[in-house]
Amino acid sequence: VIAALAGGVGAARLLRGLVRAVPPGDVVAIVNTGDDDIFHGLSVSPDLDTVTYTLAGAVNLETGWGLAGDTFRGNEALRRYGVPTWFRLGDLDLATHLYRTERLRAGATLSEVTREITGAWGLETRLLPMSDDPVRTIIEVAGGDGEGPQALRMQEWFVGRRCEPPVLDVRFDGAAGAAAAPEVLDVIAGADVVVICPSNPIISIGPILAVPGIRAAVARRRDRVVAISPIIAGAPVKGPADRLMGPLGYEVSCVGIARAYADLCATLVIDELDRSRAAEVERGGLRAVVAPTLMTDAGAAEQLARIALAAVG
Ligand code: GDP
Ligand code: CA
Repeated sequence: VIAALAGGVGAARLLRGLVRAVPPGDVVAIVNTGDDDIFHGLSVSPDLDTVTYTLAGAVNLETGWGLAGDTFRGNEALRRYGVPTWFRLGDLDLATHLYRTERLRAGATLSEVTREITGAWGLETRLLPMSDDPVRTIIEVAGGDGEGPQALRMQEWFVGRRCEPPVLDVRFDGAAGAAAAPEVLDVIAGADVVVICPSNPIISIGPILAVPGIRAAVARRRDRVVAISPIIAGAPVKGPADRLMGPLGYEVSCVGIARAYADLCATLVIDELDRSRAAEVERGGLRAVVAPTLMTDAGAAEQLARIALAAVG
């Protein structure tokens, strides 16, 4: 079994390659739920849905999230009622949120609902939410003139405020009292390889590691853990990792990624453009494997997945 710690788009891109490199049924993704939130009364799990839609071949490849060919008429119609519509929910995508909300309301766990949703999409790969308990990523940002710091929910900062308010700190509300979802710790303990996907280290991988027991379970497998840097040549491929890593004291580079994961993985895959930094990564106690890490298509992702797996042997 290959266990993969996964956020959204970066993780989904790698997983699309991983399931071409090994049988899809051998892959178990442990997915961030710190971005989950409630919109218009609906339970939305952005990272679980991004991974599901991507593995189902149904994702909108331009945005990396949502369903290909989806429309937003329902979302636009909500404007009539003056409710905030900055978090865009597609018309077809709404079916997933309606289903999840109803099942959770009926008492199902998020793990159970996720199994039902991925089954309905025909996935052989198992997706485990990191926890069935709610964990909410909160971004503390500087307030306006004369105002104190403000606490924003992840989607409020990321989508609603376009990552503009400078970050002071990040916390994961509910994490300390949360339990890892069933199977998560066993899958990590028993996996042949644990892959840390090229996801945002602070707000995609960070919440997973904040669930009690998970960080220690990964660290115990350190020799069998390989991470792929989401940072290429000093910049994220996509998304706000730079706006989070800097304020939290990590250099925005593959060396910063190495420092963030030093206790967790023995191997870090860095991009060819970062070849000159391999020695610094290795000085941090990790083996650096240099490879093309830009996943322009499924073939490139498959090649990267093969390199990552081979690096652990
Ligand atoms: P999100 O929840 O959609 O933000 O998902 P992730 O955290 O999984 O993905 C965002 C991260 O993926 C960013 O830090 C990107 O730099 C990284 N990423 C996206 N595409 C690629 C790629 O092709 N190669 C690499 N190495 N990283 C990528
Ligand atoms: Ca996300």
